[in-house]
Order: sequence, then C-alpha cells, then structure tokens
Amino acid sequence: MTDPFELMNWHKKTKYPFILLILLMVAGVYFFVYATGGVKYVFPHSMYLPIIFSAIVFGIAGGLLSAILGGIVLGPFMPIDTMTGETQQTINWLYRMGFFALVGSIVGFASDRMLFYVKQIKWLANYDSTTGLPNRISMENFIQSLPDLSEKNRCSHFLLGIALSNADEIEMHFGANAVNQVFSHLACLASSELPSNPSVYRLGHNCLGVVLLETTETDMRQKTENLKKALQKPFAFGSLHLHGDIYLGSVVLESAINEPGKYIEKVRYAVSEATAKKQQGEIVVCSEHDARIRENIELLGELMDGLQAGQLTMHYQPKVITQTGYIYGAEALMRWNHPVRGKIPPNLFIPRAEESTLIDQITYFAMDQALGQIATWEQNGLKGMQIAVNISTRNLMSHDFDKTVRQLLDSHGVKGENLELEITENSFMEYVESSLEKLTTLSKSNIVLSIDDFGTGYSSLQYLAKLPISVIKIDQAFIRGLPNNVGAKYIVEAAINLAHKLDMKVVAEGVETLGAYDFLRNVGCDIIQGYYASRPITAGEFNTLYQECGGRLLQV
Ligand code: C2E
Ligand code: CA
Ligand code: CA
Repeated sequence: MTDPFELMNWHKKTKYPFILLILLMVAGVYFFVYATGGVKYVFPHSMYLPIIFSAIVFGIAGGLLSAILGGIVLGPFMPIDTMTGETQQTINWLYRMGFFALVGSIVGFASDRMLFYVKQIKWLANYDSTTGLPNRISMENFIQSLPDLSEKNRCSHFLLGIALSNADEIEMHFGANAVNQVFSHLACLASSELPSNPSVYRLGHNCLGVVLLETTETDMRQKTENLKKALQKPFAFGSLHLHGDIYLGSVVLESAINEPGKYIEKVRYAVSEATAKKQQGEIVVCSEHDARIRENIELLGELMDGLQAGQLTMHYQPKVITQTGYIYGAEALMRWNHPVRGKIPPNLFIPRAEESTLIDQITYFAMDQALGQIATWEQNGLKGMQIAVNISTRNLMSHDFDKTVRQLLDSHGVKGENLELEITENSFMEYVESSLEKLTTLSKSNIVLSIDDFGTGYSSLQYLAKLPISVIKIDQAFIRGLPNNVGAKYIVEAAINLAHKLDMKVVAEGVETLGAYDFLRNVGCDIIQGYYASRPITAGEFNTLYQECGGRLLQV
C-alpha cells in the first residue's frame, strides 16, 4: 500500500509539474469566478482549494505564494461585477488576500510540522537514536535487498558482528553517553578499516553489525585483519583512554534470504560464544549446527506449557551396592514427551532451562515427583529408598532454595536422608562460596549432597572435603575405559582411595560391563549405576524389577 505521507513528498521529485498544476488551478478558479459574475457571489471561496492544496504539498511557502497569487487575480485583476465592470475597493481585495494568506500559512505550517514528525518517526524506526547508526530493522531490510549469489557459488555475503562485552561496565562508570561514543567510534573504525566503507548497523545494546559483500571465509578473515588491529587500541573519551573488550562473530548469509532476523540472531550467538570462550581477536563463525539455537529457544518457550500439561515425567535408574548387589536407591532423570517432537532428551532442554529462572520450577517438579515416589514405595514395601535429584548451580542462587526443599520433604513426610542432591562439578566451583550457607543448611537436614561428573571439573577432593559433600560420582568418561584403560584404572582407584580417606562414598556411573563392575568391586567402589544394572525406567517398572529380584539386582 502506498504510504499517504509519501504523496506529500511527490513535489520534491516532480517540482515543476506541480507548480504548473497550482498555477493552472489558480487560473481555473479565476476564470470560474469571472464566468459566474465576479467576486460579489460566494464563488471566490473556491480559491481556498488551490491554496490548501499547495500549502499541503509545498508547506508554508507554497500556501503563502498561492494565497498572494489568488489574492491578486481575484483583486486588481478582476472587477467586482463582471457584467457591469464595477471595480473593487482596494481594502476589500486586500482583506481577501489577508484571509487567503492566513489560511495558506496555517495549513502550510500544520503540513510542515506533520511532515517533520512523520520523518522523525520514520527515522526513529530505522535508526538508533543514541548513536545515529542505522538499526536492526534497517539491517534486516538491507539483508533482504542483497543480490542472490546462488550463481556465483564460490563466494557469499558475510554478516560480521562486533560486540563490546564491557559495555555495561563502561556505562556504569562513565555513563550512557560514554557507551554511545564508544559505539560511534567503533562504527567509524569498522567503516574505515573494512574494504568499500560498508554501512555499520547497531544490532542491540552491545553489538554492531556489518555486511561484507561477495567474499569467501578466508578473504573475509584477511579483510578484517586491519579492523582487528585497530580495535585493540584504546580510544579517547575526554581525557581518558578506554579499553573495549571486543569480540567478533560471523555468519554466512545464504542466498534467497527470507528471514533476515534469523541471521542477526545467529551472529549475536556467534559473538556471545566468542565472549563466553574469551576468544578475543578471533572471528567465531556460526555454523549450520547452530541453526538449532532457534529451535532450542522455541523449545524453552514450550517447556513451561509442557510442565503444566504433564508432558514431563521422571524415570528412575537403580543404584546398586557394589559389594552385595542390592538396590540402594535411584537417580531421578527427567523425560519430556513432546506431543509433536516426540521424546526430547534432557541434554537438549535442561541446559537451556538453566540459563533462565525456569530451572527452579523444573527442579522443584523433579523433587516433588521423586519425594512423592519415595513415599509411595514406602507404602508398597520398598523401604528406605534414597532418590537422587539433579540440581543446577543456579538453583543454589535462589534465595529460598533450602527452605523450599525442606517444605517439600515435610509435605511428603520423607526424611532428609532419603533425598540426595547431585550437583555437577563443572560449574560448582564458581558458586561454591555464595552457596556454602545453603549447602550447610541442607546437610543439617541430613540431605545427602553429592558431586556429579567428578573428574570433569577443576575441584580437588581436598577442597571438597571442607564442604558438606558426602558422595562423589566419578564421571562416565573414566568408567567407560574400565577395566582395560590403564590411565582410567589408576584415576578411578586413586579417587576411590582418597574419597574414602576423606570419609566420602563413591558412586561409579555409566557402568556397562561385567568387567567394569568386577574392577570397581575389587577396588572398593561403594555404589554402581549404569546400563549393566539397569537403564533408567519408569516408577512402575522399577517397582516390578525390585519385586522380581527381591531387591538384589546383581548376583555377586
Ligand atoms: P547425569 O546427571 O550425568 O545423568 C546420567 C546420564 O547418563 C543419564 O542420561 C543416564 O541415562 C545416562 N546413563 C546412565 N547409565 C549409563 C550407561 O551405562 N551408559 C551410558 N552411555 N549412559 C548412561 P540422561 O537421562 O539423558 O540425562 C542426561 C543429563 O541431563 C543428566 O546427566 C543430567 O545432567 C541432566 N538431567 C536429567 N534429568 C535432570 C533433572 O531432573 N534435573 C536436572 N537439573 N538435570 C537433569
Ligand atoms: Ca546426575
Ligand atoms: Ca553424571
């Protein structure tokens, strides 16, 4: 649909025909008034038509000009009565001209203001008001207008993302103005240091984007060398020299671009990857496998609905006492049965949920189900089962986590020692100081705390001994090598010995073979978990399995 305000700009493109049109209209009205007897009737009012029209089109100047023209042709050039030729009093036509001028200038002024505001709104929609750089919408339009390179398949267009990771820090210390100046400076550098002075767009709070046309990845890396060097230098802000933590990411713009927003998300993902991995000075290219990001984001949006619709359930994988073969408890593992996508493994949605506050609801759900299950098993004769629930380090950041766990235990009438919380070693160390108090409260309720995936992170057993941790779960990667891999054997044996000296129990997870089981039994591992004993199964299946084997799953 044609924008009505674009029509008001026509005269700029076709100025002279428009002036001619106005002159013709004024002349037309003059002849019309003349033909109808002169200015003594109401017909001179039709002169407002060309005046208003030219005021709308040309603004205040156009309104005034046609008012004067109209005033003259209906004044000194016309008798009051064309039949008798009676002339007009000067004061009359001067008054008329005054009115015409008043209307012309009011309408012209209103038209000028309207055009000004419309332009401003349009500008704000396409530009970042703080730096004056074209914004994300402009970039999307630009990407969409790019020529299709499917013929020249040797090269592609690349979208380069430039992120300033310390933007918040700069803003905090020097104010928003400083960040905007830094971005303007970065945009100038990008434009001048990249070939053919490309336009630079602001893609978000801390990110700029540039499109490099018709290039290959190797060429693109060469072309950005100068820019990378320039970005390393500090830049002046008043008397200060500021350092920008710059990270670069890139994505190939495929031919036939229908969803330009998708590429902007990808490039933002690439720079966030570069930032997370501290790959300063390198360009992280977003590969095709990252196309799943979008799907993952959608998935996260559906997770909450899935939780409420009962699509999430818990499976239980038996844990067996190594020396006796008796079932000691189980690890609760989440399963998502999606109505459209089918079974979604936890590794696909739990890490995403951990990036949001949704993980609290997920963990409370898992805990609620597991505790409910312990209570049901107690009633069915499966006494003293201990169920382990996986928790995220982010849960420990939630201020009332320990209280909620206590409330859940009370509401199911389950004792603390029947609940184990598994915390992954990998990210634990970062949060250990801030979560110490909560961990202590939890362990005072006799809840068992264990370190999951032990050996994949950086914690030392010595350090863990100072925390209220009583179990370590050796990561599957080490267990998989048993009993043949000599390195794995030494590591597992050493970890078991040291853990025992520190009064901790050891669980070996991912036990798949009799060989591994035998080795673990010989070196004194306390508990095993793995496909060799059982895969994760539903609560009903667990019940049947337990009844069938009388609680003794493995024969020793
Ligand atoms: P994890 O806590 O290390 O759980 C063990 C994973 O290893 C489970 O995968 C389990 O099915 C699998 N596994 C067990 N024994 C064997 C074996 O002998 N061989 C092999 N190859 N695999 C074995 P799953 O169920 O796919 O869970 C993956 C991860 O998702 C879990 O790793 C855990 O980090 C996370 N997760 C699962 N459920 C929850 C939950 O309710 N909350 C949270 N926060 N994370 C969960
Ligand atoms: Ca676990
Ligand atoms: Ca694990």
